[in-house]
Amino acid sequence: MIKATPQLKRRAAEVLRRLRAEYPDADCELDFSNPLELVMAAILSAQCTDKRVNLVTPALFKKYRTAADWARTPQATLEKEIRSTGFYRNKAKNIRALGAALAKQFGGRLPEDLDTLVTLPGIGRKTANLLLVSAFRRPGIIVDTHFKRLSARLGFTDNEDPDKIEFDLKAIVPEKDWGAWSHAMVFHGRRCCYARKPECPRCPVRGLCPSAGKV
Ligand code: SF4
Repeated sequence: MIKATPQLKRRAAEVLRRLRAEYPDADCELDFSNPLELVMAAILSAQCTDKRVNLVTPALFKKYRTAADWARTPQATLEKEIRSTGFYRNKAKNIRALGAALAKQFGGRLPEDLDTLVTLPGIGRKTANLLLVSAFRRPGIIVDTHFKRLSARLGFTDNEDPDKIEFDLKAIVPEKDWGAWSHAMVFHGRRCCYARKPECPRCPVRGLCPSAGKV
């Protein structure tokens, strides 16, 4: 386990400072206009690019405006509409179940706390934290595949389990920066620190990264 020492915290703060300068617009790249749209887009984004999800969602969001709308649609109809995002059977099942649960238990609205969110169909900690940060402007650490890879390469975690990584980073990064940190990591993972062949020579945090030139 990596200890959250003052040096590590200082290094994390400098990493964030540089990444913020590099990506001043870092934010959620899924298109949405309310929490319900975001959660449905997030479910669709599993094993799919945000770009593809953003192509599919405008027609969906026009048709399905409430949690009950999503719940009422037949499984086969929704499967057809979301087929291009992959894993469409499971996604359609989760989306309909989530719509039903929200309509029945929460008056069609998404609860705004993580512990309740993770009890809902199709919502794990990653999606719950994304909702906290991007829909409700609350603190959250969003551990996706990019976040996981970068946190390890930058030496901020030695855990593999996303929940443990979330708590490792919560101990290192101040709460006010959790959301910014999450988006900065994802942006950097998508634009420079690729899974294969990261571009270390042009990386703004290479002087702070123990993996620079070694991946
Ligand atoms: S120096 Fe290389 S491995 Fe480290 S964060 Fe930058 S791109 Fe990733």
